[in-house]
Amino acid sequence: MSDPQAAPAAAHEAKEAPRCRCGHGLDHLMVSQIPAYTGWQTFLVFFAGVSTAPERIDYQCRVCREVFHSTTDADVLRDHH
Ligand SMILES: [Zn+2]
Repeated sequence: MSDPQAAPAAAHEAKEAPRCRCGHGLDHLMVSQIPAYTGWQTFLVFFAGVSTAPERIDYQCRVCREVFHSTTDADVLRDHH
């Protein structure tokens, strides 16, 4: 495709589906979803044994180690509760 009109569509698609440098998407087998906790949440989870939803989920590729996406979407966080 040499049509310059195609460029914005491609950019939009890339934004919809983030990928790491080696091309793995969010749901790929080699991509870990790593919960990120705030300081007091870390205390609750690891010292008090309380289950709490993380502040953020980071998506890290286990091949290239790149954290290529993160989300604070409440629905996603609830899955990691
Ligand atoms: Zn990768």
